[in-house]
Formats: sequence, C-alpha cells, structure tokens
Amino acid sequence: MFNFHKHFLGLNNLSPSDCMAWIIRPGMEFGANAAWWGVRKPRKSPHEGVDLCMFRDSAGAIHRMGSCYLIPSACDGVIASVIADFIGMSVFVKTGLRRGDGKALYLLYGHVQPAAGIEAGCAITGGDPVGSVSDTALKVNGPSPHLHVSTAFIREDFPMEMFNWHGLVEGEAEFLDPLDLIEIPVSFDF
Ligand SMILES: [Zn+2]
Repeated sequence: MFNFHKHFLGLNNLSPSDCMAWIIRPGMEFGANAAWWGVRKPRKSPHEGVDLCMFRDSAGAIHRMGSCYLIPSACDGVIASVIADFIGMSVFVKTGLRRGDGKALYLLYGHVQPAAGIEAGCAITGGDPVGSVSDTALKVNGPSPHLHVSTAFIREDFPMEMFNWHGLVEGEAEFLDPLDLIEIPVSFDF
C-alpha cells in the first residue's frame, strides 16, 4: 500500500540509477537510542521512525537531501494534522487501512515544508507532493536536512490535542519500522 521510492523518483524526475539506495547510518534507524548528528546525544525516547538523509547513485556518489527535493505521499489517505516540529513541520496522513481492533494505520512525516493546500482534512493520493524537505541551515549543531518517516497504528478516539510527536509517544501510538512498509531500497552503513 505504500510506495515511497517509486513516487520519490517520479516527483523529482530521477531515474532508478540516480537513486539506487537510501543510506541508513547508526542513529537513523527505527528504535535508535542515540542521535546521528553532533555528539550523538541519547534520544529522549527510541527513534519512532527512520531518517532519510542521503542516497547513493549507481556510480557510488552520495546525494544529500535538501529543500530542492519534493516529498511525495507514499499512499492514499486523508491529512489528519499539520503541526510544527523542531525543524519544520510534520504532516500526518491517515491511510484507509484499519486493523481488526479498529486502529488505523498512519504515515507520519517530520521536517517538511508543506506544499500549498496541504491542510488537515484534505484527501491525498499516493505520489502527490506533500512538500519539500525543511532547510536546517539555521539550526546550530542540529542535523542536516532529512525527512523523518514514521508509520503507526493509532486508535480511532486518539485525542486531537495529542496529535504531536510527544503526544503520540505518551498516548501509546504503535510505531512500526517504516522500512518494513514504505518500499525503499536501503543500504545500511553500520
Ligand atoms: Zn527521525
């Protein structure tokens, strides 16, 4: 149901050889206990997703994410919330998938600059641009530009006022490893 990579290539006019594999370094992976930037400080809670910061082309060159790249929705859904995060904005997309216990699957992006019209309540189709990667140039000692991607099952009566990263952790949203779901080629540089 998710296809991040195919849509990322299409939206940014890249061929498969332009973007062969997303590079995952220690700290970028789901469940990481430390940051990947600066002095690799411990995280307040295990990393709730994966950070897409750079990719490798077929010649081995590394390309870094930046505001020049557009971020596609990886699936169809409805935008549940658009909120500020510590680098840019987060966009939460509720997919049509429900589990037997009634919880819905969400695609959660962090650190984006939303495109015009990306607002709560809007329907979105897989491949539609959600926005671009937030520029982090003003953040001293912060991470380089990257897209944070989470996938989580969230109960239907989850309080709207808790629809932020801290609230999702406190409210026991069930985070899953996005790499099992979003369909991207990865290279673990561990
Ligand atoms: Zn992250």
